Amino acid sequence: MFDKFHEECAVVAIHGHPEAANLAYLSLYAMQHRGQESAGLAVSAGKGKDVMCHKSMGHVADIFTPERLGRLKGDHAIGHTRYSTAGDSAHLNAQPFSVKCNKGQIAVAHNGNITNAAELRNDLERSGAIFQATSDTEVVLHLVAHSRERTLAGALREALLQLEGAYSLVFLAEDRIIVARDPHGFRPLAMGQMELSGGRSAYVFASETCAFDLIGAVYLNDVEPGEMVIAGPDGVTRERFSPQRNRAHCVFEHVYFARPDSIVFGQPVQPTREKMGRFLARRHPVDADVVVPVPDSGVTAAIGYADESGLPYRQALIRNHYVGRTFIEPSQAIRDFGVKLKLNAVRHLLEGKRVVLVDDSIVRGTTSRKIVRMVRHAGAREVHLRISCPPTMSPCFYGVDTPTKSELIAANHTLDEIRRFVEADSLAYLSLHDLRESVGDDENHDYCYACYTGDYPTDMVSIDELLSSRKRP
Ligand code: AMP
Repeated sequence: MFDKFHEECAVVAIHGHPEAANLAYLSLYAMQHRGQESAGLAVSAGKGKDVMCHKSMGHVADIFTPERLGRLKGDHAIGHTRYSTAGDSAHLNAQPFSVKCNKGQIAVAHNGNITNAAELRNDLERSGAIFQATSDTEVVLHLVAHSRERTLAGALREALLQLEGAYSLVFLAEDRIIVARDPHGFRPLAMGQMELSGGRSAYVFASETCAFDLIGAVYLNDVEPGEMVIAGPDGVTRERFSPQRNRAHCVFEHVYFARPDSIVFGQPVQPTREKMGRFLARRHPVDADVVVPVPDSGVTAAIGYADESGLPYRQALIRNHYVGRTFIEPSQAIRDFGVKLKLNAVRHLLEGKRVVLVDDSIVRGTTSRKIVRMVRHAGAREVHLRISCPPTMSPCFYGVDTPTKSELIAANHTLDEIRRFVEADSLAYLSLHDLRESVGDDENHDYCYACYTGDYPTDMVSIDELLSSRKRP
């Protein structure tokens, strides 16, 4: 059974560049915010050559030393970073996964969550498949290996049609890269190009376009929902493997997850996030002295709020960007130690002030409460919390790490109860209507809002099974 839901991740793929491993590594570096638990690269030097893979727990920069990268020689590469999870099997679940099968040697990396993976896995195990990890991604490899189709692309087409849920997948075979996006387009996957000498091009694919900026690639467009793109020795071919389905881009990418310098689902994140802040200022104004973001997640919306309200924007919470995975805790308990390690308040900016505190979301409410307390202890006279998305009511089954419904404060409490819990003088959320306007989805219905509405865009036949199999760290 699966350890837990597949979570926020980044994927990258590079085809036809002599420094493929290096570029994939740099792309992961740019997308480190999407997952810090483990990272990995798989590289291939062409037809008849082995696919080499290295993955480990930790941050990209720590895993890949110059020596390690230097050994990953080849023109084609895929890479992956994975968000933090608990459990002993974490290392086994690090990606890419790589296998030798009758389609040759292949490696795969995945962002998303395959909602029917448990059923598919049971079927595969009944027909003799042996699984090594608890990740849903391994199911895809087994489906490919079991397929009677002779080519990898044919086997993939067959495999993809059996999957439900969210996936942006990147595959590496000896001489080609194949990428695919689920028919609803839940998770992002952008395509870019790099000019090489002699008029040749390399093709790159990544979860976020900030990776392209770092490696000097030009963003072309997105891999379409239900589309498979093959970059091989004969160039690039694009095909639909599935009929058109209702689009369901994850709106949380724009709210929180993606970097503001990225273009996600064809839209730059910075202006959408700023609009969220502007709407908040218009609908929920405060007679206050300063607007303060919770860094980094609240920064862009706070800029929008400050601009719209005319209130000064002040960075009165300072984030320590170097907090690692481990630290030595003092033996005497320090109140709110974990949050203090990451954030500290600038008393000089807060003392005696009425503060509008802007963050992107409240999930359990526990972190928000600690931050509100911190601002108050630094001398703020009033703290008014503004949240740049609607109340988070329902868990995500498509790849965002949200706790079960019972742990979601907004699923079980009224607005005023939440306000009292987080100890704010006032609390207001962005409305669903204004969120849609912010991402420009007022007419098309291209986004998934299930975490705010409970209205899931796919048939969740096994939703009870998904809920009961879900383990929290
Ligand atoms: P809490 O007040 O404990 O609910 O925590 C809210 C904070 O968690 C906010 O600052 C969010 O930016 C952050 N957050 C929300 N969703 C996620 C997520 N899926 N992964 C990591 N952090 C998140």
